[in-house]
Amino acid sequence: MIAAIVVDVPSGSVNKTFDYKVPEQWEKWAEPGMRVIVPFGPRKLQGFILELKNSSDVKGLKNIIEILDPLPVLTSELIELGQWLAGHTLSFYITTYQAMLPAAMKATYEKFFVVLKQENLPEHLAVSFPRHGELSFNEVMKEFPDQLNEYLSLVKSGTLDVIYKVKDKANKKKVKFVSILNKELAAELLKENQKKAEKQRAVLSELLYRPPGDYLMQDILVETGASLPTVQALAKKGIVQIEEKEVYRDPYKGRNIKQSEPLPLTDNQLDAIKPILNSIENDQHDTILVHGVTGSGKTEVYLQSIQAVLDKGKEAICLVPEISLTPMMVNRFKGRFGSRVAVLHSGLSVGEKYDEWRKILRKEVSVVVGARSAAFAPFTNLGIVIIDEEHESSYKQEDHPRYHARDVSIWRGKYHSCPIVLGSATPSLEAYARAKKGRYILSELKSRVHSNPMPEVKIVDMREELKSGNRSMFSNDLMEMMKDGLKKREQTVLFLNRRGYASFILCRDCGYVAECPHCDISLTYHKRNAALKCHYCGYQETIPSACPSCASEHIRFFGTGTQKVEEELAKVLPEARVIRMDVDTTSKKGSHERLLTAFEKEEADILLGTQMIAKGLDFPKVTLVGILAADTMLHLPDFRASEKTFQLLTQVSGRAGRHELEGKVIIQGYDTEHYSIQLASQHDYHSFYDYEMKTRKLHQYPPFFYLGLLTFSHPDLMQAVDASEKAASFLSSRLSEQSIMLGPVTSPIARIKDRYRYQVMIKYKNEPELGNWFEEIIFHFQKDKSMKDLQITAELNAQTLM
Ligand code: ADP
Ligand code: ZN
Ligand code: ZN
Repeated sequence: MIAAIVVDVPSGSVNKTFDYKVPEQWEKWAEPGMRVIVPFGPRKLQGFILELKNSSDVKGLKNIIEILDPLPVLTSELIELGQWLAGHTLSFYITTYQAMLPAAMKATYEKFFVVLKQENLPEHLAVSFPRHGELSFNEVMKEFPDQLNEYLSLVKSGTLDVIYKVKDKANKKKVKFVSILNKELAAELLKENQKKAEKQRAVLSELLYRPPGDYLMQDILVETGASLPTVQALAKKGIVQIEEKEVYRDPYKGRNIKQSEPLPLTDNQLDAIKPILNSIENDQHDTILVHGVTGSGKTEVYLQSIQAVLDKGKEAICLVPEISLTPMMVNRFKGRFGSRVAVLHSGLSVGEKYDEWRKILRKEVSVVVGARSAAFAPFTNLGIVIIDEEHESSYKQEDHPRYHARDVSIWRGKYHSCPIVLGSATPSLEAYARAKKGRYILSELKSRVHSNPMPEVKIVDMREELKSGNRSMFSNDLMEMMKDGLKKREQTVLFLNRRGYASFILCRDCGYVAECPHCDISLTYHKRNAALKCHYCGYQETIPSACPSCASEHIRFFGTGTQKVEEELAKVLPEARVIRMDVDTTSKKGSHERLLTAFEKEEADILLGTQMIAKGLDFPKVTLVGILAADTMLHLPDFRASEKTFQLLTQVSGRAGRHELEGKVIIQGYDTEHYSIQLASQHDYHSFYDYEMKTRKLHQYPPFFYLGLLTFSHPDLMQAVDASEKAASFLSSRLSEQSIMLGPVTSPIARIKDRYRYQVMIKYKNEPELGNWFEEIIFHFQKDKSMKDLQITAELNAQTLM
């Protein structure tokens, strides 16, 4: 038996499979999708089996050294997807496969067999297990190699399981369970009317009161106030049984999640869900764009679509941007589908993520809610993928493999013949344009549930405020309304747009701005540790007391941060209780949730925060939303700046007046005539779309053109320039007439981590060979020994130009 394997050498010359022999004793075990260790030159490397075959053109094949997985970790679909994705994103096979697996699978670990069903375990194998213990996989390989296949088939049938003990403690958790063993004895003890065994009787009546089954020891102890020895005494008498079982670490345990029933859909929702249900029913692949204003009940549409998929015995993935994957959001899914839901997001520990992922692989769940990488959930009977807030830039990974979750999902939708649903109040221009062309089906939800009105928005020009003598960061209108809200005991959300807002240090005498010595970017002021930090490389220095350039003492912090807003609030509205949410206050695990829960319980009047509070929050008492510095993002060197501003303002405004109480929004800024601000205030997506499309067409940007981007970086500026010029001349002789090449020019951030950055941009409509040319360029410089410090990144469909 021969295995075709991709090995862990991310370099241009090895983006293909290599053949290895499968040692005879493992032939029954080996399957595509398993990880292996193979010899590669003098080294031992990890790899994935992609295919098994009977012959090879290569002579003198080496043996696989070790198979790492008892069962495949990649499904055959994911193997195929990885190959497509590698081509699509110009990445290495190995990198794409690694991106599909949880981080715990990359760590070093040891494997153990554990018993799941004692009764099915043959006696001759049972003796090898230490009492209540785990049997080392390696020990079996060494001591009983001929029994290995038997063990593995027991894993397949679910009698045994294999656990990975990862060095970072991702190993599984065991917990005690208790159940009634002998009902008659229990009943007898209960009848005895003595004081003596009071606690024991409490335990028994609790257990008998519940339907027969195993119950968490901890729950029973808490419920009855008994202690462990009490239950152990009952076990000794043979009345109850105590068992240790593996449980998953459930990051959402201990939380009371309210069960929710499907709501009767509004007429609007019924219209919107129709094409989705149609596609589910006919097992057909469609991409459906649900364009629904904030508060129009998109989530309910998602939930009921998922229900229809589950009713067909299929599985569902719902992608949510990391930042809005709040406990509130998760609860809406858990409340409807209970323990059938797995959650994948970066807030989980490595071990927790691994547990959630295993639930999917073992088919213990049928719904996954997660951020970008959940698009790879290893379901085999996928019935739908929903991408909420489809326009979010976090669906694009800006590191290898540079995939977009939308593309991955649509690929999977075709593979499984199932619908892909894109949902947003502010669809990306790309998606909306495709819907208008008929490539996607368009579903529109034009009004809020039960016709709640959209909030009334007022734009305030801060230049005028200044002229009239108001030097505070709050306009008079905003102040009045915040006071009014306080009086009525209603809540306010204050949003500070931080993107593009430099909280930098400026010398008022000479204009000196503190910059990172390694990157061409100004340092950001952090009050908490009185430091200046670089957001690109982590460089940090203390705040200078005098200007390094002119020695003036008038050097000070400039710009607005959430801390500063908080201080100002304390001055002007001392009676208001404020919760601040930003990177600083939410860095500890669980703090995000704690703060939101506190706000939900009305322990605060004002929620102040950055991008983190822009989405997904649904609080009935919020009647006022204040947006400070609405226009800062408009000035970023990014062709999506207007689109992002419009989306953000719409999202944030959408937090107001979602329930019975009416909402109001104040947008403050300096460039308030800008169309993205004006149209956002009128909740007018369609006019924004039309206007922005004209601009994009004029400047030849997406969605009219794709953007190919090659970025060259080198510690020596001249080398970066030289390489990019060579690439540009290589490309210019090949590109079709319709394509436009820009550059080479310096990148918008000209230097990061002491490396100079140069770029070549290609605007194109149809250039089927471009990926191959990019690869040729990369390969060319890889072979050039004098260019070993050169780094190249290549993208066929760049989202930003940074
Ligand atoms: P969106 O995701 O479009 O912003 P949500 O799904 O959060 O909107 O819905 C807004 C509010 O309306 C939520 O509180 C939700 O529970 C409620 N809601 C949604 N659909 C219905 C319905 N059919 N009947 C009653 N209430 C609904
Ligand atoms: Zn830096
Ligand atoms: Zn100075």
